Amino acid sequence: MNKHNARRRFGQNFLTDPSVIRAIINLIQPKKGENLIEIGPGLGALTTPLLENLDHLTVIEIDRDLVSRLQGKWTPNRLAIVSNDVLNVDFSKFGGKLRILGNLPYNISTPLLFHLLNYTTYIHDLHFMLQKEVVERMVAKPGSPAYGRLSVMLQYRFDMEMMMTVPAHAFNPKPKVESAIVYMVPKYTQPSAVDEPHLSRLVKTAFSQRRKTLRNTLKGMVDQSIFPIAQIDDTLRAEDLSIADYVRLANLTYPGSV
Ligand code: SAM
Repeated sequence: MNKHNARRRFGQNFLTDPSVIRAIINLIQPKKGENLIEIGPGLGALTTPLLENLDHLTVIEIDRDLVSRLQGKWTPNRLAIVSNDVLNVDFSKFGGKLRILGNLPYNISTPLLFHLLNYTTYIHDLHFMLQKEVVERMVAKPGSPAYGRLSVMLQYRFDMEMMMTVPAHAFNPKPKVESAIVYMVPKYTQPSAVDEPHLSRLVKTAFSQRRKTLRNTLKGMVDQSIFPIAQIDDTLRAEDLSIADYVRLANLTYPGSV
């Protein structure tokens, strides 16, 4: 088969290091009967060892050349291929208990994480390879410079852990940055927001000027009298509030909730 030229617009950095591939499969521990979906199978670096452990796998791939290569390698009863942009995929149509994984194209990693927030009830767990810096922002705790909108909105929905870092030389072509694997599991008990779009707007506004006090940044959204009721000091900044603080503030300011 012809050599595939990596397409930069699809964020194609293919995994080539066998020890890294082994370590990732070891983390995932795929088992027969599980409902696995791989995003961006590419040339099959993870797909091949996954299928050694599974009877059936679903993959989502945007690049039609790669789709036809995959079609030539496995029959549809072993490998179901969704030839589409993952951002347009409705994850409610695959059944439940989804184990989703992927060495993700870095240019769509944040929109994809926000897309998956719509499907948490269908998800069992997620293993993603991302830019290390993005994983650091995802798992960051309040008070740290990396803590931001991504940390709050994802930690609201998921327990997350950075499992391993992966050096650039494990890929071909080599990316400019270091990568890391994050493991994510939906939270079953959480303080819940009355209205999630409102929580999302509040968090976005708070972090839009992260150096300013909440009193200033949230002026248009939160009446000053609400801060003491929410037991939040309005001279603090966005990065000082916990997830529970944001949920409390969102619930107290959602129109109709007070
Ligand atoms: N899994 C392979 C590996 O580890 O070697 C390839 C990883 S490569 C970083 C990302 C893969 O995602 C490529 O195969 C790329 O074509 C695919 N991809 C990029 N954008 C996509 C999108 N929006 N939807 C689905 N797949 C996408």
